[in-house]
Amino acid sequence: MNKPLNKKLHKVMLPGAVVNGQPATLGVMGGGQLGRMFVHAAQSMGYFTAVLDPDTASPAGLVSHHHIQTDYLDEQGLAQLMQRCAAITTEFENVPAPALVTLGAHRPVAPGADAVAIAQDRAAEKAHFVGCGVPVAPHAVIAKPEQLAAVSDELFPCILKTARMGYDGKGQIRVKTREELSAAWDQLKNVPCVLEKMLPLQAECSVIVARGADGQMVNFPVQLNLHREGILAVTSVYEGAVPADLAAQAVAATRAIAEGLHYVGVLCVEFFILEGGQLVVNEMAPRPHNSGHYTLNACDQSQFELQVRTLAGLPLTQPRQHSPAIMLNLLGDLWPESGTPAWDEVLALPGTHLHLYGKLSARPGRKMGHLNITGATPEAVRATALQAAALLGIEAF
Ligand code: ADP
Ligand code: MG
Repeated sequence: MNKPLNKKLHKVMLPGAVVNGQPATLGVMGGGQLGRMFVHAAQSMGYFTAVLDPDTASPAGLVSHHHIQTDYLDEQGLAQLMQRCAAITTEFENVPAPALVTLGAHRPVAPGADAVAIAQDRAAEKAHFVGCGVPVAPHAVIAKPEQLAAVSDELFPCILKTARMGYDGKGQIRVKTREELSAAWDQLKNVPCVLEKMLPLQAECSVIVARGADGQMVNFPVQLNLHREGILAVTSVYEGAVPADLAAQAVAATRAIAEGLHYVGVLCVEFFILEGGQLVVNEMAPRPHNSGHYTLNACDQSQFELQVRTLAGLPLTQPRQHSPAIMLNLLGDLWPESGTPAWDEVLALPGTHLHLYGKLSARPGRKMGHLNITGATPEAVRATALQAAALLGIEAF
């Protein structure tokens, strides 16, 4: 994949500038919490913002200067976004790639449609990882009945994952036998899938990098992630959370993956650490990531600030984590029937930083916000995080 750099992005768009008679405005496709935190970061630097999302009450739309309420492929909506914005990014990987192609023909778009298209497809994503020399789980692509029949015995037990549109463990079925596999593929409506060998996981971790259009790249430290029921529950980031040799491997692999895509923007790569200590890449997200939310309070620059910088063509400097940190995801399950969790009790604990996304109804599994805990030492952060978890009804970790 030897693509030229997106030349248009070399143009620096200074905060507070006036571009074509309009205040310098940055756009984002998607109005979820990641878009909201992007908007916050862009606005704090003096940019105006525009969000395209059909939801009238989208978390990002609620706080943006402009909210274009159309479908992602709506031509008028896309035209309005281009008219408003000097450059455009995306906040979820399932933004239709054709919409990014349309936008990219007229405006700098980062990440580009080609990188997003690869990240949208588990089969293409795995092929890219292999091409970068990073180990992946043994797997098979299943798009046709012949491929189902040809699956090797060695892959069992395994997980069948839809190639597209999966997130938070959705679109995945665990299978032990060929009969189960065949039923599972039917249940997933025979859409193209990737079948992955079930690996013995010791832990999971992720790395976030930001890469500019000029090829400059910086990275955050390695994040240790605990998932529950396929959803990220806890991220811990401090010295020793991930053994140093594995952390170095994960950073090198993430950089190679971003480099190989000629990526522009913020990219997160998720890894498995196997029981034997080997590192295996799982998947990537072409955007800031839930496991990077601790950067809002524990680092001198957040992942969203770096997303703004990459989009505006501003310089990147290596971010520095100044405090050990733990992030607790706040899912709708924690909300009582009426009212909210006891935030006053949680915020009485030292080093707690509450981030809520402005979602008015809490549903089980819905990401309502996150709590960052910072402290002087990993021990202190862990102690506080466990206290906060107990107050909120989050299972200890
Ligand atoms: P999603 O796109 O929903 O995040 P993932 O592929 O990351 O999907 O899977 C969700 C979680 O399921 C992972 O974080 C991991 O805990 C578990 N998982 C996924 N694939 C495997 C595997 N091959 N072996 C063991 N556990 C897995
Ligand atoms: Mg995942």
